[in-house]
Amino acid sequence: MPRSPCSAPPADRRSLDSLARRRVLARLAGTGGLIAAATFAAPACAQWKAVDDPFTLGVASGDPAPDGFVIWTRLAPQPLGGGMPPQRVAVEWLIAEDEAMSRVVRRGSASAEPELGHSVHVEVEGLLPERWYWYRFIAGGAASPVGRARTAPAVGAPVAALRFAYVSCQNFEHGHYAGYLRLAEEELDLVVHLGDYIYENSSAAEMPRRHDTGKEPVTLAEYRDRHAWYKTDASLRLAHQRFTWAVTWDDHEVENDYAADQSENRDDPKWFLERRAAAYQAYYEHLPLRRASLPRGPDLLLYRRLAFGDLATFHLLDNRQYRSDQVCGEGRRGGGNVVEKCSARLDPALTMWGATQEQWLDDGLRASRARWNVLAQSLMMGQFRARNAAGNDVHWTDGWDGYAHARSRFLQRIAEIRVSNPVSIGGDIHSYWANELKPDFDDERSPVVATEFVGTSMSSRGTAYASTVKALPLNPHVKFFESRLRGYVRCEVTPARWRTAFRAVERATDPRSPVRTLAAFSVENGRPQLLID
Ligand code: FE
Ligand code: CA
Repeated sequence: MPRSPCSAPPADRRSLDSLARRRVLARLAGTGGLIAAATFAAPACAQWKAVDDPFTLGVASGDPAPDGFVIWTRLAPQPLGGGMPPQRVAVEWLIAEDEAMSRVVRRGSASAEPELGHSVHVEVEGLLPERWYWYRFIAGGAASPVGRARTAPAVGAPVAALRFAYVSCQNFEHGHYAGYLRLAEEELDLVVHLGDYIYENSSAAEMPRRHDTGKEPVTLAEYRDRHAWYKTDASLRLAHQRFTWAVTWDDHEVENDYAADQSENRDDPKWFLERRAAAYQAYYEHLPLRRASLPRGPDLLLYRRLAFGDLATFHLLDNRQYRSDQVCGEGRRGGGNVVEKCSARLDPALTMWGATQEQWLDDGLRASRARWNVLAQSLMMGQFRARNAAGNDVHWTDGWDGYAHARSRFLQRIAEIRVSNPVSIGGDIHSYWANELKPDFDDERSPVVATEFVGTSMSSRGTAYASTVKALPLNPHVKFFESRLRGYVRCEVTPARWRTAFRAVERATDPRSPVRTLAAFSVENGRPQLLID
């Protein structure tokens, strides 16, 4: 049988990359920094011709380093099902110094493989720090939209200011992404996503718009479709195209309230890990993650660090993959519960991060020379006490309150090792919060050791307003709360001061709604107490 070049056995990806890199360097040496049109190694399937636009899911960049970032796309002429032939396809990529792509400084060829849903993740290197670049992909004769990406400042370099925004919880069914449209108009160096990028569950009620199907995804093909469906939103694609992102996840990327191998439905853990593997792989395939996060079976290494010179280091944390099962769930549903008299919350054996990640964080905080240490994680870290009709305190076990000892152990630790300006950013609960973090929230003499800003959801419906407000007097460390508005959070960080602006869209039902600053706060260098602007 004649053999098509498109079905050649896959070569080792790393050797292709290094070969391409060597050729780029050789070419650079000969042209004084500019590269003429050239062909590179590894044409996977040059014969494939795009009939329809294969870039329907857009482009993205992520995880900035001083010398580069990762650029992403996924070939999918049809968002649902992909619409690609089951073969490898060669994808050319270009990096330029200008939006018109006329001054190309790097280029190469990658292979989009059917095993990874024809996604492409290129780790671009050799760029200059603290610069904007533009990039584009070409496949099957079709060119992608031009994306914009920014490198981080040089290691340890003095940085005068960093502007970033963070988002979370973008349930497609609950509303539109006016927040992304307005975020795309901001001047930012980075966007951070703190989880619930997709939702696996759908609502039976009337909704502004619908998922691709009302059935929960379980297989890889189904999770791929869900991610692709979210990317059909033009405002989400625009926000990816304009900025370099850093992402971490929460529960809904797999299943509501899951904990490691424990599903909310109490499924067989062996079966659930297969579902998790499918969900994790689809997550990797749709986001600009580095090779270090390539899924391995049911595992995906997501916790990592990003540094912005001497000014800020982001410690991106994984609150789901390694955590203990939620406590006090006996006789109740799996996942989180509102519980009273649950002393198991205080069990020192409980972990949110797992021993390895906790040690990694401890090591990284001790070694950090950054002025600001950002704890980027999916949940609200501050305690929230409410009181039930019987007058007893109640807590929600899926959040940090269900892991109270692990939390106070961590907050004590950052005080002990004198972490420079720890600031936690979180999401999950679809509401804005500004909190002061203490090792013991029930002791008014317990010192404030860190500051926390929880961002509201991009679109997911807000948590109960009136009952939460009623409980605020039990939570004096909470300085601000609002759950009725959707949006994002913008931060401006300088050596002397951190400024947070809660940005809220006026009408969540309007995809083009304007945005305004609902409230603004400051934190001064060396003082974790919140200042209200
Ligand atoms: Fe959520
Ligand atoms: Ca969540």
